[in-house]
Amino acid sequence: MVIVDRHKCGHCGACVAVCPVYAIELVGTWIEIGEECKECGLCTQVCPMGSLEVGT
Ligand code: SF4
Ligand code: SF4
Repeated sequence: MVIVDRHKCGHCGACVAVCPVYAIELVGTWIEIGEECKECGLCTQVCPMGSLEVGT
């Protein structure tokens, strides 16, 4: 599971674009990671704000 720190997220959409399984939903300022997440870590690498983390 990927954890989002919503206080850090700048809503840039970079994570949405890179997710291979389209698990990230970004609507306005709301962001959510769905259960489709495969924990590949790609989104954590592209986030400019460091707001995504692969957790447990
Ligand atoms: S860890 Fe991978 S599969 Fe999960 S939300 Fe991020 S990019 Fe998508
Ligand atoms: S890449 Fe980071 S800052 Fe951009 S929308 Fe995703 S979580 Fe938010």
